[in-house]
Amino acid sequence: MALFEKKTCDICGNKLGLSGRLKAADGTVCKACAARLSPWTGDQKGATLHELRRQLVLREANRQLVADFDTSRSYGDTERICMDAGRRQFMIVRTDNVTLENPDVIPYDKVVDCSCTVEEDRVEDLQKDEKGKSVSFDPPQYHYLFDFIVTIRVRDFPFDTLTFRLNKDSVGIHGGADGIPAAERDACADYRRYVHAAEEIDGILTFRPGAGGQTPPTAGAPDGPAGSGLPE
Ligand SMILES: [Zn+2]
Repeated sequence: MALFEKKTCDICGNKLGLSGRLKAADGTVCKACAARLSPWTGDQKGATLHELRRQLVLREANRQLVADFDTSRSYGDTERICMDAGRRQFMIVRTDNVTLENPDVIPYDKVVDCSCTVEEDRVEDLQKDEKGKSVSFDPPQYHYLFDFIVTIRVRDFPFDTLTFRLNKDSVGIHGGADGIPAAERDACADYRRYVHAAEEIDGILTFRPGAGGQTPPTAGAPDGPAGSGLPE
C-alpha cells in the first residue's frame, strides 16, 4: 500500500498540480492532459488510463483534420457548425482559435440523427404606476424568448451527443398570456431563419448519397437508362 499519494501524471509523467487533475479509474491525469481531451466527453468518470490514452491519440490525429478542413457552409452566431461538403464532415467551433481549440472533426456518415429544440421562455412586460411601482398591464403583456438548440447524435466516437445553440441572443416576440400563435411566430424573420438553418443542418448531416436506391447527384453525368454507369 502506498503511503503517499502519487505526484505525477500517469499519462505525461509531469508533476501534478494541486487543482484540475482528472481521477481516472486506475490513475490520475494532469490538468494539461485533461484539457486536450474532447470537450464532448463530459467528466470521464470511470474512464481507464488506456481509454484516455487512446482518446488523446485520436485528438492529436484530429489536428490534421482541422488543418485540412475546408468550410463550405457554417451556421450559428457564437457556436458555429462548419460543414466541409467536399470531405462530407463537420465540426462545431466555439472559439476564435480553431487550432488551439482542435474541435472534433466528424464524418456525416457517423451521424445517427439530428434534431432541433426550440426553447421558450415567457417574461411579463411591466409598466410604472403613478407611484413609480412596477405593475402589470391590463390585460397583462408578455414577450416570449426563443432559443434554438441543435442536438446531433453520433456513433463510433468517445462521445455520443453534441449540443449547441444556433442563436446568440434569444429571439423575442411580443404577445399575450396565451403564447404566440404559430402564424405570428413564422412571420418573425429571425425565428424563421433559425428554424430554416436547423432544417438545413439536419438535411446536410443525414443525407446519404446512394442510400435507399438513390443515385448520388453527379454533375454532368449522362442520365441514361443504363443505371449509374459505374463499373461493376
Ligand atoms: Zn499529463
